[in-house]
Amino acid sequence: MSLLPFDALPPHKARTFVPKSLNFGDPSAIAVLFDELERRAPGCKTAADLEAWLLSWSELRAALDEEGSKRYIAMTCHTDSPEAEKAYLEFVEKVEPLVKPRQFKLAQTYVNHPLRSKLSAKRYKVFDRDVKVQVELFRPENVPLETEEAKLTQQYQKLSGSLTVSFRGEEKTLVQMGRYLEETDRATRQEAWELTARRRLQEAEKFEDTFDELLKLRSQIAKNAGFDNYRDYAFRSLGRFDYGPAECERFHEAVEKAIMPAVRGLQAERRAQLKLEKLRPWDLGVDSLNRPPLRPFEEAAQMVSRTQKIFDRLDPGLAQGFHTMQGLRLLDLSNRKGKAPGGYQSTLAEARLPFIFMNAVGVQRDVETILHEAGHAFHALAARDEDLYAYRSAPIEFCEVASMSMELLGNQFLEEFYATPEANRARRTHLEGILNIFPWIATVDAFQHWIYTHPGHTRNERSDAWVNLMKRFGGEVDWTGFKDVRASLWHRQLHIFIHPFYYIEYGIAQLGALQVWANSRRDGPAALAAYKKSLALGGSRPLPELFAEAGCRFDFSRQTIEPLVKLVQTELAATAN
Ligand SMILES: [Zn+2]
Repeated sequence: MSLLPFDALPPHKARTFVPKSLNFGDPSAIAVLFDELERRAPGCKTAADLEAWLLSWSELRAALDEEGSKRYIAMTCHTDSPEAEKAYLEFVEKVEPLVKPRQFKLAQTYVNHPLRSKLSAKRYKVFDRDVKVQVELFRPENVPLETEEAKLTQQYQKLSGSLTVSFRGEEKTLVQMGRYLEETDRATRQEAWELTARRRLQEAEKFEDTFDELLKLRSQIAKNAGFDNYRDYAFRSLGRFDYGPAECERFHEAVEKAIMPAVRGLQAERRAQLKLEKLRPWDLGVDSLNRPPLRPFEEAAQMVSRTQKIFDRLDPGLAQGFHTMQGLRLLDLSNRKGKAPGGYQSTLAEARLPFIFMNAVGVQRDVETILHEAGHAFHALAARDEDLYAYRSAPIEFCEVASMSMELLGNQFLEEFYATPEANRARRTHLEGILNIFPWIATVDAFQHWIYTHPGHTRNERSDAWVNLMKRFGGEVDWTGFKDVRASLWHRQLHIFIHPFYYIEYGIAQLGALQVWANSRRDGPAALAAYKKSLALGGSRPLPELFAEAGCRFDFSRQTIEPLVKLVQTELAATAN
């Protein structure tokens, strides 16, 4: 019996290189295909031959990618199946380590190919620069350092994930403690918050030790690759060709000048509604009018049919896409025993079809998640006819424009789930969340800029740098009595440890999404047409062009941000309770 929720799906285009019956459990059968590609490359005599070679390589990458996705989906849908777990681990442990160096070898083969310069510059610009930078940055002496880095990041995850507290006689993980911050009883919130904060603080030295080790490794990795500092290396290795540190600094400044006043306004309103003298760190998650949570649906099936109605009202093309996903059972949405937590969208790279996984339990967060993941799914469907594997997905800065725009566009029709007052409450919560996340993104990003451009800093200097940023971007929250908690708050942000510099992407994308939404306020059909056109480009164009096609400016300055904040504030005022 298949452990996948959907039936076998044929490749969107019939395979011409990878054998139909390829056994993915047999590493030698996969190796043969890489051998064949390496052997074929020098025989390419024309640009067309090289393009055909790239398409064969694409086909192999898509086949491997889809196999990995399927095994991952099966495992997350059946965490209680030893068979699914074994199949997934086999792929991760046996196939991926074999594939990685072989992919790199092909990248080198491509970069050194004499016909590379004969390919159409317009068509291959993005692909070419991505592959080239990957090859350029590679240093054999960095391989063991990166293994060491991976081990340390795993240590961080293990430590963070293992922390528990005893709360009212029960052992709880810190994630489980999160929900008590939504309790209307203030004393409960404070108790839960303090318990969690103190538990983290007990491990502060360990987090700092791990981070210092990571810092040493990263600075060496950058030096080996010929960079002065790790920031410059990280920007290259993340493929940031279209923006640099100066643009990020402009973003921090725009958040400070254009978003912080609005955030402080929201905090003052929250404080007044909660009838508090001061807003403390445990007062930020509760509904400020002490209302019970929204209940948008009972069963996941209702969520699907109501979401379908939202898309029906939004756009016939998108509606058709969601309908198709339902028909092919590419949605596994209800929470049940034996399912992994969380939600994700995954693309079956050969069928070129999206799959959505989530654990809906009937809260407003679920509605936001399905709209978000549907945005990713529409992106995959829109780029379906692109034959170059690398171009069927966009950089994360734009992928999240697709998904975050869909949250905002879909929210127009929340009356499919609620009466108007509740729909407005959901819209407000969403918009407030958008404003509130920007300062945190700016803090996390600016902190990393500081860290990697201040070599040899002490732990105290690092703490001071963090606290200064908390002052710059923290608003009105009163931290009296919790100085030490505040100074090490960054320990909980896993990106700082695991994915250095990868975080501002969400801020950049949100700026795009807000622009798509602003455009749709002026001219709905035109905004949607531009959105769909930009999605269809996949990853074939640089970020500024993808943004432009969607009708947005790729710019993180005050000029772009200020009018967006105004629009959000107008909407908040219009939906006020
Ligand atoms: Zn997303």
